[in-house]
Amino acid sequence: MVSSEYERRIAARFATFDQDGNGHIDRGDFSVAARALLTEFHRPARCDQGQALYAGAEAFWQGMAGIADRDGDQRITREEFVTGAVKRLRDNPERFAEIARPFLHAALAVADTDGDGAVTVAETARVLRVLGVPADTASTIAAALDADGDGKVGEQDVVPAFARYFTVPE
Ligand code: CA
Ligand code: CA
Ligand code: CA
Repeated sequence: MVSSEYERRIAARFATFDQDGNGHIDRGDFSVAARALLTEFHRPARCDQGQALYAGAEAFWQGMAGIADRDGDQRITREEFVTGAVKRLRDNPERFAEIARPFLHAALAVADTDGDGAVTVAETARVLRVLGVPADTASTIAAALDADGDGKVGEQDVVPAFARYFTVPE
């Protein structure tokens, strides 16, 4: 059964992926997300973290296209997203985590502004916001990830949380 509430959430996830808002998801949306993260954290595109982020964005796009781009036109339409991506990702969040991991790993390295190998709750929330997660949800997710309350978040927690957000209706 498909409820309108469920459809609303799907539409919100689609809009998150469609970063440039042109009505379909394609490679360009992933570059937009990478660029936005570098801008948010004041990093040049040519730095090592920037290169890793773009490589991760490309891998993320390839993975999503492999799952959802049924007609192979290098675009994921809303229909392809709903019929392909949503169901398959919901059935298999681990697969989604795998696809997204290189990008998220690079995003967290970009967000680690003091370079000590850990990201703070605030930095994690900024990453999620830049990727299109609504601000209040981003803060809630980030805070929940800091289970021991030391203000820091581990990558092993961020990737599954991200996968849950994008694949499971709350
Ligand atoms: Ca787009
Ligand atoms: Ca397509
Ligand atoms: Ca840090």
